[in-house]
Amino acid sequence: MPKYDLISIFPGYFSALDLSLIGKARASGLVNISVHDLRDHAGGIHKSVDDTPYGGGAGMVMSPEPWGKAIDEVATSQANHLVILTPAGKKFDQAMAQEFASFEHLIFACGRYEGIDHRVTEFYSSQPQFIVHEVSIGDYVLNGGEVATLVMLEAIIRLIPGVLGNPESLAEESHTLTVEGEAIVEYPNYTKPVEWRGLSVPEILLSGNHGAIKAYRTQEAVKRTQNRE
Ligand code: SAM
Repeated sequence: MPKYDLISIFPGYFSALDLSLIGKARASGLVNISVHDLRDHAGGIHKSVDDTPYGGGAGMVMSPEPWGKAIDEVATSQANHLVILTPAGKKFDQAMAQEFASFEHLIFACGRYEGIDHRVTEFYSSQPQFIVHEVSIGDYVLNGGEVATLVMLEAIIRLIPGVLGNPESLAEESHTLTVEGEAIVEYPNYTKPVEWRGLSVPEILLSGNHGAIKAYRTQEAVKRTQNRE
């Protein structure tokens, strides 16, 4: 069963992982998620995890010491994929979700303030049992890595066999569908009623002609893909 260790100063963010499909996947033993409070590894009465930046500048930087202790505590002797959330990282996409869904152990390091002392990335990149991934979920800045971790986990866990009721739905989805080798987004979907506020479901979808429906859906998916660019 894949194991996900999430390290954060706000463990409460992850209560959403008890809900819906991920909650069910956890309850039925398809995935193992553990949440860890970084402050458990902080020293002093204030349990401080940050300090002023060398070189000056605004804000505080997360100290490497508690991060090192927290990561070492969850590391195993197998391959440890350490995900360090940062807007400076490689952009998360469906291909990365597919790749990460094949990993047995992921550790998510959720930064706060101005981010985590860079030596954490450097140190674990030099350790043979670690593979470090600096990941961004998009070109904008969040207050912390918790929401980014939730986004990644939702995209990854739904790809794990047994999590979705109907695994066939995965093949038909945006960013997995392809036309001539290019990934496209999904065609528009419709359900009952046939008429709603003066708008009708496209005739072709009511025709029962599977070939024509497939061709129509591909054409609409390509149109939608082009309109995003
Ligand atoms: N000073 C950093 C910079 O300019 O790149 C931004 C730090 S941000 C306020 C605090 C934390 O939020 C980061 O360490 C990271 O963990 C998380 N974060 C913010 N934006 C993110 C994004 N787009 N993707 C992933 N994590 C993000």
